[in-house]
Amino acid sequence: MGAPGAGKGTQAKRIAERYRVPHVSTGEILRHHIRNDSPLGREAKTYIDEGHLVPDEIVNRIVEERLAYCDDTATGFILDGFPRALAQARELDAMLARRGESLDIALNLAVQDEELVERLVARRQCPKCGEIYNLKFNPPPPPPRCSLPGCRTVALIQREDDREATVRERLRVYHETGDPILNYYEERGKLRTVDGEAGPPDDVFKTIESLIGSRNEAWSP
Ligand code: AMP
Repeated sequence: MGAPGAGKGTQAKRIAERYRVPHVSTGEILRHHIRNDSPLGREAKTYIDEGHLVPDEIVNRIVEERLAYCDDTATGFILDGFPRALAQARELDAMLARRGESLDIALNLAVQDEELVERLVARRQCPKCGEIYNLKFNPPPPPPRCSLPGCRTVALIQREDDREATVRERLRVYHETGDPILNYYEERGKLRTVDGEAGPPDDVFKTIESLIGSRNEAWSP
């Protein structure tokens, strides 16, 4: 968990690679629907472009369907961007109970709001492979293009919802609906907060790795 721009996507991807578990990002699944212009995508777009949350029923369904989709989630998974509201956190517990599982750890990436605004307006994404860059902190090689081998798409894009006014609205919404979830997991002894400003993504990941590693050695590859 963490505010928009805290580095959830970047760190979730690393966690998925390190522990060989699928990375389930509700934002990415929704953007996939939007790109395909599906009915769900058209509905979700109206909320996302305004910086608002997509209704709980939609995201809860997306997550449950993804977890059931194939058995790649049998040995674990990392959720990125979900839950984002208290009702979603409760539904996640119910969902996991139906699967005979429970949450191991709720990781919170803490970053201050002004730093988040600066990061988000400078964020760019490859429209083809989804790789994330940042004009300030992780610039793409010149001319600006995706550097992943086999991709090399030239026109990186700014997400509609990364424009400054929308970013500020997303942060307002994040604090309103996200802060109570932190208390929810704190009360259940699941919350681990990591300083998302402690250094470059590699350093932040090392801290995360030490937290997860010491939590469950069975996950070591
Ligand atoms: P993200 O890529 O995680 O920043 O998500 C982009 C946008 O998708 C968010 O600003 C929300 O509008 C929507 N979204 C993603 N995950 C959720 C969620 N769990 N609940 C509601 N809306 C979500």
